[in-house]
Amino acid sequence: MLIRIITAFVLIVILIVIEHFLPLEDKRWLLLTMFAVPYLIAGYDVLRGAFLNIIHGNLLDEKFLMAIATIGAFVIGDYPEAASVMIFYQTGELFQSIAVGRSRRSISSLMDIRPDSATVIRDGEELTVSPEEVAAGETIIIRPGEKIPLDGIIIEGATSVNTAALTGESLPRDLSVSDSVISGSVNLTGVIKVRTSGSYGESTVAKILELVENSAVKKAKVENFITRFARWYTPCVVIGALLLAVVPPLILQGGWSEWSEWIHRALIFLVVSCPCALVVSVPLSFFGGIGGAARNGVLIKGANYLEALASVDTVVFDKTGTLTRGTFKVDAIHPAGVTEAELLDLAAAAESFSNHPVAESVIRAHGGHIDKTRVGKVTEHTGMGIEAVIDGETYFVGNGKLMAKAGAEWHECHLPGTVIHISKGAKYLGHIVINDEIKPTSEEAISGLHALGVKRTVMLTGDSKKVAAAVAGKLGMTEYHADLYPKDKVELLEGMLDEASKVAFVGDGINDAPVLTRADIGIAMGAMGSDAAIEAADIVLMDDDPIKLPYALKLSRKTMRIVRENIIVALAVKAVILLLGALGIAGMWLAVFGDVGVMVLAILNALRSMNNRF
Ligand code: ADP
Ligand code: MG
Repeated sequence: MLIRIITAFVLIVILIVIEHFLPLEDKRWLLLTMFAVPYLIAGYDVLRGAFLNIIHGNLLDEKFLMAIATIGAFVIGDYPEAASVMIFYQTGELFQSIAVGRSRRSISSLMDIRPDSATVIRDGEELTVSPEEVAAGETIIIRPGEKIPLDGIIIEGATSVNTAALTGESLPRDLSVSDSVISGSVNLTGVIKVRTSGSYGESTVAKILELVENSAVKKAKVENFITRFARWYTPCVVIGALLLAVVPPLILQGGWSEWSEWIHRALIFLVVSCPCALVVSVPLSFFGGIGGAARNGVLIKGANYLEALASVDTVVFDKTGTLTRGTFKVDAIHPAGVTEAELLDLAAAAESFSNHPVAESVIRAHGGHIDKTRVGKVTEHTGMGIEAVIDGETYFVGNGKLMAKAGAEWHECHLPGTVIHISKGAKYLGHIVINDEIKPTSEEAISGLHALGVKRTVMLTGDSKKVAAAVAGKLGMTEYHADLYPKDKVELLEGMLDEASKVAFVGDGINDAPVLTRADIGIAMGAMGSDAAIEAADIVLMDDDPIKLPYALKLSRKTMRIVRENIIVALAVKAVILLLGALGIAGMWLAVFGDVGVMVLAILNALRSMNNRF
């Protein structure tokens, strides 16, 4: 295409010079034949496409309109214009296809996480295969510098891995035997053997790539508006062109030169009748924004969410694991009628099947071997704690609400922190006081959101009021609600939906899926390796750093600004060209140049957000 464009362009320049020195009186037919050559070189496929469209009854297609405009220009004797309009049009098309192709590919390649191959050990031999050919439970070996092809657990060796392409986090993580590794990260230092936990299709990498590549399906409101607008714009301009070609010469009763002049003006309308700049640049802007976010470990599942994010004025947070680390340390054990060790033992046994941050912390504090065979039926009461049968007896491990449910006489603790009470049936056995650390970037994230004009930052937690007040106060949040059941969280959030322009909920994906799905935008954080969170959320923060929130908000606003700029500039340029064309001030050259120029500018503008680094 580029060669065709250049050839045609050079030919036209030569022909214009020749035309100037041609001594002939009537050179119409000669010129027509001469200029038809570059015209056809540049645009034969447009003509063919237009012809095929006519056969299929598709008249307002842009190829058809270009064909009419240029053939019309030939008819009224504007040969160089006709040929150059075609060249410019094709230049625009070329540019557009490069830009669209580039952005589509670049989201995957920007993230640079797709593994090319896997080295699998079968019958003691190493085989290099494509990641798709490795099954769950096989052993793969990954050397330094290689990308980890599938999710799994290290069974031999130790190393540090770089997850930057997945999370935007550039600090390497140290991993050794029994740690899990995530596909898409890069093995840096040691040779490791990994037992795969699933096939490639189930791997984090495959899921992320699928998610990002499908994000184009979910259209933003502006995109739908542009699509609808384009459906009206083209026919209107074409009708305008027809009227312009026919009505004035009829009224003015002029001769052929009158007709030719008005037809010329009408052809200018046809040249700008394609809403290309809008139709291409708006989705491209969103693509750029989504790609730019993906590079930084923020996966946005559709342009609609990016658009909504830009007008968020209320951000609601879950506490544990979102604003705080979710790795509690045990500060005190206060038993009643049992020993400290017995109490911790019971708590750890009851928690041994839960993946709640509290459970993981109790298990870690216990440290020793937990005899899971003692544990019978386990019921997790969301937002309250655990009910478990241990050695045939029913135990309750959780907060005050759970104690009330068990009918146990419990009491508050004077120490600050989250208190985990334990009872055997209705008999109170004491409590464990645990404390969580606020994430280092939480405060900056909250103040960053306020600085961006977010009016309300709200914490919703099932934890006690004492803890909630301390954390919310420290972070400078505008409000907090404590002692909540999951259904209370949903109710409170629904109240906020009515008061706000857009509400985002940020959670860790553990037991807050109902709120995640109810919010205008559900944001799951720390989602690396957690399929449930990736599925439930609209936006996924691959690592668990809250500072990504203000950055993502900024990026979304920038993207929306670019979209608006593109729409306004494109419409303004078209309006001006239409006006100047109708008045006979702008020639066809200017029309094409303006139209293609605006499209190229819009595309370049659209790609700006892609290169953002948080
Ligand atoms: P958050 O809203 O902060 O994410 P949750 O709703 O998950 O907290 O839990 C609320 C409270 O319920 C916790 O602070 C804790 O007291 C209690 N709880 C929840 N799950 C457990 C558990 N597995 N073991 C003990 N207590 C629990
Ligand atoms: Mg939670």
